[in-house]
Amino acid sequence: MTSQMMKDLTHQYIMGTYGRFPVAIDHGQGATLYDPEGNAYIDFTSGIGVTALGYGHQPWVDAITDQAKKLVHTSNLFYTEPPAKLAELLCKRTGESCVFFANGGGEANEGMIKLARKYSFDKYGQGRSTIVTLKNSFHGRTITTLKATGQDVFHNFFFPFTEGFRYAEAGNLEDLKAQDQGDVCAVMVELVQGEGGVLPLEKDYVKALEALCAEKDWLLLVDEVQTGVGRTGTLFAFQQYDLLPDVVSFAKGIAGGLPMSGIMANEKCKAVLGPGTHATTFGANPVCAAAGLVVQDVLSDAFLAEVQEKGDYLRKGIEALNLPCLGKTRGLGLMIGVAVNDGWTNKDIANKLIENGLLILTAGPGLRLLPPLVITKEEMDQGLAIMKQVLA
Ligand SMILES: *Cc1c(COP(=O)(O)O)cnc(C)c1O
Repeated sequence: MTSQMMKDLTHQYIMGTYGRFPVAIDHGQGATLYDPEGNAYIDFTSGIGVTALGYGHQPWVDAITDQAKKLVHTSNLFYTEPPAKLAELLCKRTGESCVFFANGGGEANEGMIKLARKYSFDKYGQGRSTIVTLKNSFHGRTITTLKATGQDVFHNFFFPFTEGFRYAEAGNLEDLKAQDQGDVCAVMVELVQGEGGVLPLEKDYVKALEALCAEKDWLLLVDEVQTGVGRTGTLFAFQQYDLLPDVVSFAKGIAGGLPMSGIMANEKCKAVLGPGTHATTFGANPVCAAAGLVVQDVLSDAFLAEVQEKGDYLRKGIEALNLPCLGKTRGLGLMIGVAVNDGWTNKDIANKLIENGLLILTAGPGLRLLPPLVITKEEMDQGLAIMKQVLA
């Protein structure tokens, strides 16, 4: 099928919920993608932070193939090996105590919100159900996680939304304290706001937030759907903040491209969601978990240190280009934001780069880079060369 045929069919038969860039993708290798006509694109997106191991990663392909031949799905009424092993690895590598597996980021955050409300209900009874989130955050597209998202533009059309959310300014502990009306059960944050523009929280603020939550018996919920699984140069970003969240959600990169998500809870929260309180049919799928095990295998400490180095290399490389349309870079590891200067828009810049063979994302008013974690120096240099040639 040609690119044009894919576009025509998509426009005719797939619901028009996405504003797409005018590129069709057929296959990939490493961090390079190809359209049906054979044109190459350097991938600085990894499908929005998903394909951590890039494309055609042989051990990952083999693990999926082998597991698909052996057992594709049972249900959570029976025991299987891959999710049990993956949960063990995640707990041992983070200090968390248990995992619930789901399928997408929004769904994982729903589980995290349910856990927080039940923790408080079990201990204090009804009426302590408010969750404070941060302005400019993004937590998902379900009716509840839209409301959890601290941006007014998301609180439209789909009324009535779930009650029980208030919003505090990111980095401002006084504003967060001001949201306390005696009904709060938890605070939920992204340590680096992703969709909001790649905005890392200050470490001092996060440590003070942790102390405040401990004092008030509010659960500290960390949404690592985008920052988790090596993206920031540690397995989870909370490890760089010297933190052990009560509950943490993950999704995007966890299985390197197959749909999988989940939450991890610490010892205090381990027993909150007992039998019958939470479930999902596809959760803990053995094929997805087998893929997740390969991702964990690749993400050694040495590999994670390389992710930090690659992030530094790309940021320095972009700043050294001194492009008139781009300002400073920010971020952690291979989660990078680039400011767009006045007079230019991120959408126009992204479109130009994509047309010329470099796939890139926007976030907030800036550009966002989330390359596959396995991206090579040669691929990064090719991407930088396209930036230079197109934007100089
Ligand atoms: C992408 C994202 C979500 C939503 O994940 P889906 O898999 O699209 O439901 C939630 N939180 C954060 C921080 C995200 O980046």
